Amino acid sequence: MKKYLKCKVCGFVEEEGSLKEVCPACGAPVTVFEGYNYTISEKRLKLMELHIHPILVHFPQSIASLSLVFIILAFTLQGEVSSNLIIVEKILSIILPFSVLTAIGAGLFDARIRFKKMFGPLLKQKIMLGSLFFLSSIITAVLINYETFDYWGKVGIITLSIVNFLCSGLLGFKGGKLINSKLSG
Ligand SMILES: [Zn+2]
Repeated sequence: MKKYLKCKVCGFVEEEGSLKEVCPACGAPVTVFEGYNYTISEKRLKLMELHIHPILVHFPQSIASLSLVFIILAFTLQGEVSSNLIIVEKILSIILPFSVLTAIGAGLFDARIRFKKMFGPLLKQKIMLGSLFFLSSIITAVLINYETFDYWGKVGIITLSIVNFLCSGLLGFKGGKLINSKLSG
């Protein structure tokens, strides 16, 4: 079993022996560290420390925010700039549902490791939000790629792009609360 130390000031956890004079997170002197035991297995800890889900969620997040900016510009500007933006938007809108699906898959895997047996209200909210995000991103892609650009089409696309953006933000916000959770067992 590896030994861990925890900073009493900020809660930062590091393997024993890899600390220098100060806490890498908050700068407190290394003397404030005390022994810390994870109550989960090395294997689970290793898998969690890959941070697969927290890394993968940055793709849908950045695509959703870029798409929102691009679609507003595409509908506001005219001529060649607008049609070029539409081309980019078509590609982004197709990538988005796939990136959402990948992040959901990684999220479910992460939840299995982190919360082995139980799924709490926060996780259920995240699964619902993730499903809404996926659905809304698919409809966005269909509307954009079939060039549904009449008045209501544009309203729909912009509304859905805002929904996509809000979903990604809310998911990140809720996910951030879960990042330090490790159930025992
Ligand atoms: Zn610290």
